[in-house]
Amino acid sequence: MDIDNLAAQRIQSQLKSNYFELVKNEKGNNEIWINDVSLIGQKNENHLTDILEGWTACNYCYMAYRTHSKRMQVVKEKNYGLNGIHDHLKQCQLKSKISLTNNKEQNVQITTPSIHPKFAFNKKALPAKYKLKLKDAELKFVVASSHSFNSLENGGILNLIQTSIEIGANFGLADVQDIFYGRKTIREEALLKFNQYKNQICSLLDEPIQQHYVAGTDDIWTDDLMKRSYLDFTVFLLMMLTN
Ligand SMILES: [Zn+2]
Repeated sequence: MDIDNLAAQRIQSQLKSNYFELVKNEKGNNEIWINDVSLIGQKNENHLTDILEGWTACNYCYMAYRTHSKRMQVVKEKNYGLNGIHDHLKQCQLKSKISLTNNKEQNVQITTPSIHPKFAFNKKALPAKYKLKLKDAELKFVVASSHSFNSLENGGILNLIQTSIEIGANFGLADVQDIFYGRKTIREEALLKFNQYKNQICSLLDEPIQQHYVAGTDDIWTDDLMKRSYLDFTVFLLMMLTN
């Protein structure tokens, strides 16, 4: 059994690295063959698939299970059948995750087809009052403040709101006017960060410049649509490898 277990883990990692592949068992009459379980195969040099005798794998996490021993026909040996993989499917974490997402997807698609699953699904249940309040605030952000709908899904704004939630969770209900920084402070912050970053790059380049290990090139181009001109300067840093 231990040897089987080791072999199973090796097969699993070889499935992940595409050394083996999942092969649909067309002849299988158990319903798990439909979506959950596959045979394991390997492409041979004639581009045909050789089936790895006596094994099956979970379609979700690739965990491999013995079905019967290779020599079963010759000697009466262990025959595990599909029990192992059946038991696995009941507790496969990837399977439950995927089927959960699929169910939600189906439910949602009836009303709102969406290309952004992370926003369409997995909503933690808020009380109806707060759902409405949040939707209203998001809508006003877009319509009244002339932001694109897309800006609602921008990582920056999500991070900003998540930070606010964290502050609320730690310090309780606060008035946004009392904690939020305005444009002047954030402009100073931008300049500060710019200088820090610039100094970092300068000190990184300091030694290579003195050793003449740095090459520079520039490029200038015009954007055809906006008729805007751009200039860029690229520094190539050549590191000397010393033994
Ligand atoms: Zn699994």
